[in-house]
Amino acid sequence: MDSFSQALPRSAMSPAIGFISLGCPKATVDSERILSRLRAEGYTMVGDYQQADLVIVNTCGFIDAAVEESLEAIGEALEENGRVIVTGCLGAKAELIREVHPKVMAVTGPEAVDEVLAAVHAALPPPHDPFESLLPPGGLKLTPRHYAYLKIAEGCNQSCTFCIIPSMRGPLVSRPIGEVLDEAQALVSAGVKELLVVAQDTAAYGADLRYRTAFWGGRPLKSRIEVLAEELGRLGVWVRLHYLYPYPHLDRLVELMAEGWVLPYLDIPLQHASPAILKAMRRPAKQENMLRRIEEWRRRVPGLTLRSTFIVGFPGESEADFETLLDFLREARLDRVGAFTYSPVDGAAANALPGAVPEAVQQERLQRLMALQESISREKLAESLGRRLTVLVDEVLEDGRLLARSAAEAPEIDGVIVVEEARAAPGDFLEVEITAADEHDRLAHPL
Ligand code: SF4
Repeated sequence: MDSFSQALPRSAMSPAIGFISLGCPKATVDSERILSRLRAEGYTMVGDYQQADLVIVNTCGFIDAAVEESLEAIGEALEENGRVIVTGCLGAKAELIREVHPKVMAVTGPEAVDEVLAAVHAALPPPHDPFESLLPPGGLKLTPRHYAYLKIAEGCNQSCTFCIIPSMRGPLVSRPIGEVLDEAQALVSAGVKELLVVAQDTAAYGADLRYRTAFWGGRPLKSRIEVLAEELGRLGVWVRLHYLYPYPHLDRLVELMAEGWVLPYLDIPLQHASPAILKAMRRPAKQENMLRRIEEWRRRVPGLTLRSTFIVGFPGESEADFETLLDFLREARLDRVGAFTYSPVDGAAANALPGAVPEAVQQERLQRLMALQESISREKLAESLGRRLTVLVDEVLEDGRLLARSAAEAPEIDGVIVVEEARAAPGDFLEVEITAADEHDRLAHPL
């Protein structure tokens, strides 16, 4: 079960809840909301099936492996405890869950905090004095105290053929800008030093609101990602933007990076580089433009880190398409790359496309791509030897060394910087000099 639960002591009087949080950072934010509300109502979180009065499982349903993992987690909770409430992405497929696990008490979909609370109340009424338990300002976080995910919207208006998020989570629904900024301010007041801005399609923020103007702190603010990002930057903490679809207005976000409002870190899932495959994926297909844009962004923001993800073995991907992708990577020299083989998710439009790529070919292409990217990453990180950087400390290891990250490393997905011979605590900023690097991580000394 989630280690977060183990940190909280159980009062003999309060009803006890076990919580399993699976899935992406967006699901983590949902988990935090549910846990914060339960804790505020006086429930206790426990890290042991036997001590729990019931167990909530926040599931993921993005790819088949995640569905498997979620169903297994539900099965384990049922076996060990017996009283289980399911929520999250897989919850959108209630029939599937009930078919495999007919004994679950309730099933709700993603973003369903109120429904989860109602299901808990029905099974386990809240204790009488909710104010007995103290809720830290900023709510309860599943991430370490010094960084926090800030979800700014839910759902997506795109129709990438490999993805079922729009059908699971619905169209884009942006949170009001004032509400997002209030939450960000509360997090910063609670000690958060880095805000990780997430949504399924972060750069589309506000499109569903027609970019309407709202008032925050007595000032009119348009509901646009550029405005929101700059306001978050004004809070004086690191702001990292994730999952940016390659829209034309990304250029304005790059300006904000050049001006220092947000971290110079562009996380753009490009998915492929062959125009034919991008078209079949229903993604923007002009990769010559993308190379030109990358060049221009790097010119505008020296030290910019570019992260992307790619799918190999998409239906119809020929050897020539794959070579186009490798050529793109050679030329673009991205800093961080994640790659996956195509996985036919139940309900995705791409499943109907001809030209399925055999598993063995998919794996072979994935290995080739990763080998190429490793050599690029190794070269790029070696270029940083001797460079002086500001890092944020995440953890102090038993041997006294520090695990830290610079603007170039997002938590949980990128490498780390190991700082030797330094004393600091998680959440401290340090100035360091890079002394060694491999293809993922770097070593540094304090200045
Ligand atoms: S933009 Fe992202 S969330 Fe939206 S359909 Fe495409 S892959 Fe899915």
